[in-house]
Amino acid sequence: MGEFDLIARYFQRPTRAGSGVALGVGDDCALLAPAPGMQLAVSSDMLVEGRHFFADVYPAHLGHKALAVNLSDLAACGAEPLAFTLALALPRVDAVWLQGFADGLLALADAHGCQLVGGDTTQGPLNICITVFGQVPAGRALLRSGTQAGDDIWVSGRTGQARLALDALRGQIHADDALLTRLRQRLERPMPRLALGRRLVGIASSAIDVSDGLLGDLSHILAASRVGARIDVDAATDLLAGGARLASAGLDRGLLMRCALAGGDDYELVFTAAPAERAAVRQAGSDSATRVTRIGSVEAAPGLRLVDGQGQAVRGQFPAFDHFA
Ligand code: ADP
Ligand code: MG
Repeated sequence: MGEFDLIARYFQRPTRAGSGVALGVGDDCALLAPAPGMQLAVSSDMLVEGRHFFADVYPAHLGHKALAVNLSDLAACGAEPLAFTLALALPRVDAVWLQGFADGLLALADAHGCQLVGGDTTQGPLNICITVFGQVPAGRALLRSGTQAGDDIWVSGRTGQARLALDALRGQIHADDALLTRLRQRLERPMPRLALGRRLVGIASSAIDVSDGLLGDLSHILAASRVGARIDVDAATDLLAGGARLASAGLDRGLLMRCALAGGDDYELVFTAAPAERAAVRQAGSDSATRVTRIGSVEAAPGLRLVDGQGQAVRGQFPAFDHFA
């Protein structure tokens, strides 16, 4: 199968009209048409074998995750997905692999009305680079800057499960089959918080998605907004401990704390909002069927202050994931 047959067979589908896309796969450029009054939100993420995924991961899960991590960036800006491009390097044409990959990728794309409008295909070590395009009301995107002292800090869902899955797959912790299956879902099939993100426009003062670890990604908000924060580490740890039947798994609380605060690969949203918006944040959570939990507050003094449920200082280093550290 040649390059063009491959594209036509797995990645080219008819353009759906009236959905922000004027022209899809097949010409020199795709044409996007955001609605009047909207800004285009654009983000790219690359997945490299051995770095971001194991060589033996299910191709459908890989297709899902490659798009999910990109959609998560749109969610963090409060944007609605329109379209994406796929740049793919493949070692060889493997029909079974390609069909699985395309199925996982396009199922998530369809679930969010996000059309594949173009890309590039080449032979080489497996590498997947996706660029997503979304739209957000002009001037109203959620940014990392924008929070101020006194705001609440919130997190969606639970953080730490993807890291527990990774530790279990590496044999560093024990998880029985039922638990591992649930944790693996979080690692391999993250669900971008798009519905919540869009509802937070006009409510949240800043937001980011958690890819490198809760505290590390929160630090980007603090730096961009030139503020500090106090974080209740018990609240974040309890969220993790309360999920996925972890309570009975006998996992050490220190480990759970490290995973919740610095695990990474969560694709949850961390965001801030004024205390006057608490009811609105909770409503946004329930309207999007997404758990939202208050885990701290923004303070004027720079730096992160970690406290337990009683407000006592907690010492510990929870470094974020860094490819070059
Ligand atoms: P060009 O040489 O002009 O860059 P290509 O020959 O690489 O164009 O691609 C032909 C068409 O197929 C273009 O519309 C391109 O966007 C699309 N395309 C290429 N690879 C992919 C892919 N992996 N997924 C979706 N569309 C693709
Ligand atoms: Mg090309």
